[in-house]
Amino acid sequence: MLKKLLFILLTVFGCTTVFAQQIQSPAEFLGYKLGEKFTPHYRVVDYFRYVAKTATNVDLKQFGTTNEGRPLLAMFIASPENIKRLEEIRHNNLRLAGVESGTATTNTPVITWLSYNVHGNEPSSSEAAMWTLFDLVDPANTKAAEWLRNSVVVIDPCLNPDGRDRYTNFYNSVRGMMPDASPTSREHMEPWPGGRVNHYYFDLNRDWAWQAQKETQARVALFNQWLPEVHVDFHEQGYNNPYYFAPAAEPYHKDITQWQRDFQVTIGKNNAKYFDQNGWMYFTKQEFDLLYPSYGDTYPLYNGSIGMTYEQGGISAGLAVVTRSGDTLTLAQRVSHHHTTSLSTVEIVSANAQKVVDEFKKFFDNSRQNPPGIYKTYVIKNDNNEKVNELAKMLTRNGIQFGYGLANKSVTGYNYFTGTTDQYNVDANDLVVNAYQPKSVLLHVLLEPKTFIPDSNTYDITAWALPYAYGLKAYGIKESFKPATTSWGVIKPAPLTNTRAYAYVSAWQSIADVKFLSALLKKKIKVRYSETPFEAGGKKFTAGSLLVTRAGNERIDFDRVVSQIAADLGHEITPLSSGFVDKGSDIGSYDVKYIKEPRVALVSGDGINSEAMGEVWHLFEQQIGYPISLIRYQDINRIKLADFDVVIMPDGRYNDLSSDNLQSWVRDGGKLIALENAVAALVDKKGFEIKKKEAKKDDKADAKTKTAVKIYADRNRDAIRSSIPGAIFKLDMDNTHPLGFGFPNYYYSLKLSDDIYEMLGEDNWNVGTIAKNGYVAGFAGFQSKQKINNGMLLGVQSLGRGSVVYLVDDPLFRSFWENGKLLFSNAVFMVGQ
Ligand SMILES: [Zn+2]
Repeated sequence: MLKKLLFILLTVFGCTTVFAQQIQSPAEFLGYKLGEKFTPHYRVVDYFRYVAKTATNVDLKQFGTTNEGRPLLAMFIASPENIKRLEEIRHNNLRLAGVESGTATTNTPVITWLSYNVHGNEPSSSEAAMWTLFDLVDPANTKAAEWLRNSVVVIDPCLNPDGRDRYTNFYNSVRGMMPDASPTSREHMEPWPGGRVNHYYFDLNRDWAWQAQKETQARVALFNQWLPEVHVDFHEQGYNNPYYFAPAAEPYHKDITQWQRDFQVTIGKNNAKYFDQNGWMYFTKQEFDLLYPSYGDTYPLYNGSIGMTYEQGGISAGLAVVTRSGDTLTLAQRVSHHHTTSLSTVEIVSANAQKVVDEFKKFFDNSRQNPPGIYKTYVIKNDNNEKVNELAKMLTRNGIQFGYGLANKSVTGYNYFTGTTDQYNVDANDLVVNAYQPKSVLLHVLLEPKTFIPDSNTYDITAWALPYAYGLKAYGIKESFKPATTSWGVIKPAPLTNTRAYAYVSAWQSIADVKFLSALLKKKIKVRYSETPFEAGGKKFTAGSLLVTRAGNERIDFDRVVSQIAADLGHEITPLSSGFVDKGSDIGSYDVKYIKEPRVALVSGDGINSEAMGEVWHLFEQQIGYPISLIRYQDINRIKLADFDVVIMPDGRYNDLSSDNLQSWVRDGGKLIALENAVAALVDKKGFEIKKKEAKKDDKADAKTKTAVKIYADRNRDAIRSSIPGAIFKLDMDNTHPLGFGFPNYYYSLKLSDDIYEMLGEDNWNVGTIAKNGYVAGFAGFQSKQKINNGMLLGVQSLGRGSVVYLVDDPLFRSFWENGKLLFSNAVFMVGQ
């Protein structure tokens, strides 16, 4: 009976779809043909919502919002039967991967995920997303209906809505009546900071694994709830290039499987078929490599998917531009190309659906049963709960399982920090990751001490091993050990029982401690720090530890406010009942300094590296919650610097820097923090004692280069000798200096250039230096390795009553170099107090 009723219902339902109202195409809905103008993001959203209401084979999910409040959307498109059992398909897919337990069937639709417009100023792709959606839901499109019998297609029309609108608003506001195709006209010259990046100027296509940004956090959470079999990230490249699609360029990370390589070729050939038919130009196998794990192609690849990047020529091309070859490239053409590869990909995946699903399952079977890499267990030493918690949160976001402690307490493994094999004891709170798990490939890529780097050109950094980035001691063990506790999660402090303390102490070892300081300062609680290590309340505290004393905070709600802030942050503090400490300087000693609440300015605008500046901005606003004023570089000599205690100069081209104003402000007690090329900009400026170290001329090698005939085809390879795309170096750290507080006597730095400086002279402090052989991991050309020796990378100069902090490398790089956040916070809050 029930069956019969269901049958009738289905028949009725089926009939209604046949007579369903026609679905409007994007042109009908928007009132103009795609490519005639740029569609504002809210209209893209309107179209997707309209289709969600009108079509019967879709399900639209809003999975988040951007910093500027725009919605993040994913449209699920399937056959009318499959759309109703979408959750069942999702769970089955996760069971195929072993992420969820239970039996799974391989007789299931393949999931093809199309992501558009991650770079806001590569806008043709969101236009193509609307067209692709229409084709997949158009009842007249029988081909699409055929593909959807064995496919679920997911369309994310715009991964970076804030950036897209920044670009399209700019373009629409400067274009004339007719688009000007001349490449020199201003509509092809995007002003600072450009639309590529999100609100905080982060490149969202460098953020997949780290998930520093809220757009990425929301999207990767959804992605991991599905684990699609195929993922395409749609981009645009410089408009003088035609179109790029898979297969990708070397180097490939060695964990990418033969199947993943092969099927990229299959997809690429299908794309090529349509481009050949139309006579369109394209290239494959060049420029876009597969190594760095935070891209929209590599991250899916390391998660069992066929991850790919497609690139249409088009950045800055506006509605029309004349290319180097004299052709006029229009937006309509760009949209059409992306639309073609979108459908071509869905088509070829559908044609191979069963094989793709089978191989997806095989990838995860292999991951669980035969994980890559020589280490089958990783142990992260817990010297500080909150430092380990930051790593635990990151692993959790990526679906990597871990636990704490080991049954057998004593093990032997590779020590990341000494490079030797040691025997050591595992404590109950040490974080333990076993490699036999569904995400073992991603785990291996993120944790292996040295990334496998072929000696060739790559697009990005070549080292990111998490223990170095997080500053956590780690061991790689060849045997497989399961953690003693398998419940993953972060370690929470025990609640405070003492309600009245002489003082509260907080460690100063991680970003969690900086958040605590910031919250106290905002509540107008006075905070001090100890310049020397001490022992109190049965615990050891390093130099820099925060002291919140009743003295100076004589308010009735003192204990309540301090313990409430700690509880809200899940932050561990130790109450002291006396100022008389067990070892070291007492709380009332002159070694205990008061932290003046700094008023901070950040230099921004034309010439400044927007991403470097955005990292600082994001750290202050979104991570530590401390106020910061953004000032423009061009105003630096006009504004009253005396309104600020700290001025931060991020990386940038500081052309025509006139430093007199800055210098006199420092002399009056200001603190200037210069990073990367801002350090270089202060060389030879009056008062600043910074001097670049030049590479020693290797006469022999030089002579060889001069006499040898240079081969034109080797020009890229020759440049590699002096290149350093991002490698890890170990610095000697003076952790008695406030800039080194909370660190051991070393620090792992991600070096992005071979810049190194002469040691600062008397009265100044060389806090982070490399004597010799600081190289640890990643690719660095031999000339670079030679140069990065015997010099200063972190320094503090006293100037009048103020100070200048030199940070030669970017400690906040993409906000994933976790340990650098404490270093940077030392510069802001600790140095010069
Ligand atoms: Zn791009």
